[in-house]
Amino acid sequence: MRYCGVSFQQGLALISLALLLAVPAQAKLQILASIKPLALIAQEVAGDQADVATLLPVTASPHDYPLKMSDHKRLRAADLVLWVGPELESFLARPLANLAADKLIISYRLGLHWPDEVASDHHHSSHAHLGKDPHIWLDPRNAVLISQALATRLAQLQPESASVFRANAQRFAVSVQLLDQQLAQQLEPVKAVGFAVYHEGYGHFVGRYGLHQVAYVTYTPERRPGAKHLQELREVLAKEGKCLFMEPYYKAQGMDDMAKTLNLRIGLLDPIGEQQVSSYQQLLQQLGQSFLTCLADRRDR
Ligand SMILES: [Zn+2]
Repeated sequence: MRYCGVSFQQGLALISLALLLAVPAQAKLQILASIKPLALIAQEVAGDQADVATLLPVTASPHDYPLKMSDHKRLRAADLVLWVGPELESFLARPLANLAADKLIISYRLGLHWPDEVASDHHHSSHAHLGKDPHIWLDPRNAVLISQALATRLAQLQPESASVFRANAQRFAVSVQLLDQQLAQQLEPVKAVGFAVYHEGYGHFVGRYGLHQVAYVTYTPERRPGAKHLQELREVLAKEGKCLFMEPYYKAQGMDDMAKTLNLRIGLLDPIGEQQVSSYQQLLQQLGQSFLTCLADRRDR
């Protein structure tokens, strides 16, 4: 018996092939990280046992992002959502309130390391801090803690891969601890050199390596610095600044002029790793290199 030139057996084969394609043997766990640094950490733990995606485009500010309908859909579809917490991605607080607690990891609440507030607080003591610096991934010890929490949670969600997740997290920890030591050594010679950052988002890195941040241009990238703050910035930089760090995608009016009149170098810091960074370690290395390049003595010139 033939239907349109296809034999009964061929027909059966085609049908079973179609079924096979429609239902994959086992769907992989879907991890959705809010921002790229967290996705990089998740990738280390997941290996090839789970899929990792990033919610925000790398050029978006994690401080203020308008969620689209498709973003809400992605949040609901994920098996696990990894974010910092309402202290950073406040726009996620409401949509995530409806998700089951076991589908979420709030990194901010993990019992992390926090920088001392004293270091960069010379001149803006009147400034009210809105909680602690939420850019938690910039301390490598926190990245390790996040990876461990992830391994534990993934092991619960997919017990048959538990040993792989734990081994991945362990390997990541060893590699990051080594990097941490290297960064401490590299940055040691520039610890006393004063600088200002563009936004107040580097406390974890600055604190971990004992760097000498004397000011910031603006508290969050969305806020424009006021005249009084800019005056204070100019004064403290004139006294003890050597470098002014800007960020990709943000340009504060008058910063180039201020750097020129005060004879400051201009550096660039990228806390999200948007510039072709493909691993957490690379993100941190690049940040360390940016500090070093701008702060180091250049006697050879
Ligand atoms: Zn920030």
